Amino acid sequence: YGDPSQKIDYVFKVVLIGDSAVGKSQILARFARNEFSLDSKATIGVEFQTRTLVIQHKSIKAQIWDTAGQERYRAVTSAYYRGAVGAMLVYDITKRQTFDHIPRWLEELRSHADKNIVIILIGNKCDLENQRVVSTEDAKEFAQKEGLFFLETSALEATNVENAFLTVLTEIFNIVN
Ligand code: GDP
Ligand code: MG
Repeated sequence: YGDPSQKIDYVFKVVLIGDSAVGKSQILARFARNEFSLDSKATIGVEFQTRTLVIQHKSIKAQIWDTAGQERYRAVTSAYYRGAVGAMLVYDITKRQTFDHIPRWLEELRSHADKNIVIILIGNKCDLENQRVVSTEDAKEFAQKEGLFFLETSALEATNVENAFLTVLTEIFNIVN
């Protein structure tokens, strides 16, 4: 996961947002350290994690910010969004409410973040297919209407996590180049 002596061409700040317990911290743990924990405690303290990867021969340091239990409405401060060029808007495919809150998160994002921010909607926990309550079609339609990228992921099984980050980072890369 990245040679520390490597020269960095770009640093991209990406924020994770969405309701509590949708799996934001585990998505980040999977991406940054290839780890997963089933009994993850509510996130404390850690502001962000980084991973350096190469896109079109340039080294990109992805600085991924995770909320520290500030998921209550409007509790995430503007400092969190400052300088962010990407956002991952996460819900849990087994919890309807977490999907119903997405427009609210989107509104918050659009009022605090740069208007050109690249956003991906993520339906996490797709390993729990038998508990699914949010259909892929509904989410896809919403994403299309709002101009967001969309993927379903499983931090547990490592499904699409890499893909989700690469989608956002590559789009950002293409915008700045
Ligand atoms: P956060 O509050 O959004 O940061 O959510 P966490 O990352 O702390 O995850 C909340 C709970 O969901 C924890 O018990 C995780 O182990 C579990 N979890 C996270 N991602 C997945 C997933 O992809 N599949 C399953 N089955 N559980 C997950
Ligand atoms: Mg967390």
